[in-house]
Amino acid sequence: MSLIYFGLEFHYTRHMNRFLQAIYLTLCVLSLSIEGGSTLEKEPLMSEQYRKLTEEEEYIIIHKGTERPFSGEYTEHFEEGFYVCKRCDTPLYRSEHKFPSHCGWPSFDDEIKGAVHRQTDSDGRRVEIVCAKCRGHLGHVFEGEYFTQKNIRHCVNSLSMRFISK
Ligand SMILES: [Zn+2]
Repeated sequence: MSLIYFGLEFHYTRHMNRFLQAIYLTLCVLSLSIEGGSTLEKEPLMSEQYRKLTEEEEYIIIHKGTERPFSGEYTEHFEEGFYVCKRCDTPLYRSEHKFPSHCGWPSFDDEIKGAVHRQTDSDGRRVEIVCAKCRGHLGHVFEGEYFTQKNIRHCVNSLSMRFISK
């Protein structure tokens, strides 16, 4: 600070003014990038409040993998209850939304309002579905197959969910 004061008193020229502006701008950019870093740490995918996942679950939920067909524990599961997000426990589907599609993965023709977020898949064709709260990968949604009257199929990985009986 005393150096800057010294500079201001004895060499206060336009040149020095620009120099100080440059320092000020550099400090602004630095503080912005520090703020940016802390925002990234708060990304939903990094939250410590979420359930710790196994390697297999992490592959599906975070890296958007797909479990092998007919391998999941909920594919042919029709008990009464609801299915919550494996990672953040948000209720996603009710048992009445589930139907036997015989496609190899749990299938639902509806969702709990606001629980499931749709976005274009990285393949640019399919519609990916993620948990609206933690953005964990669930699967894909298909329309126009006429499996049920609602004409929609949420094709969800069993590993993305946890079943809670009524
Ligand atoms: Zn979630």
